Amino acid sequence: MHCPFCRNPDSRVVDSRTSDDGLSIRRRRQCTECGRRFTTTETASLSVVKRNGVLVPFSRDKVVEGVRKAARGRPVSDADLAQVAQAVEETIRATGASQIDANDIGLAVLPPLRDLDEVAYLRFASVYQAFESLDDFETAIAGLREDRREQQERTE
Ligand SMILES: [Zn+2]
Repeated sequence: MHCPFCRNPDSRVVDSRTSDDGLSIRRRRQCTECGRRFTTTETASLSVVKRNGVLVPFSRDKVVEGVRKAARGRPVSDADLAQVAQAVEETIRATGASQIDANDIGLAVLPPLRDLDEVAYLRFASVYQAFESLDDFETAIAGLREDRREQQERTE
């Protein structure tokens, strides 16, 4: 990282801070030549491998868009969508992988969406997992019922 003022390639880190979401690190640096200070932000890169093999940068906005479609007409706010997208990114980053299949993003969406809204979850799962019949819906709904029962038993 060159100093933005004098282009000197050396700087020392005077302060490091992890962003609130834990996904990037801001470093306050001081140039060893001119002594001026500047800030750099480092984010580990995360790429998505699309079905056709093309690599694109991971985008929370795209996750939000996909979930928004499934949540249309449901009591789901923009903040809820942003939270799902953040959970997805954290899940993926926690694996330590720098590349993931587009498919794995869909998988990572399911658990937080299931907690958020069951109807949106069923819609998303039906597209993502390519439900072909009522049986597929029945299986998914049975899974939700099962979970609900377990939650009730836990709270009783
Ligand atoms: Zn400098």
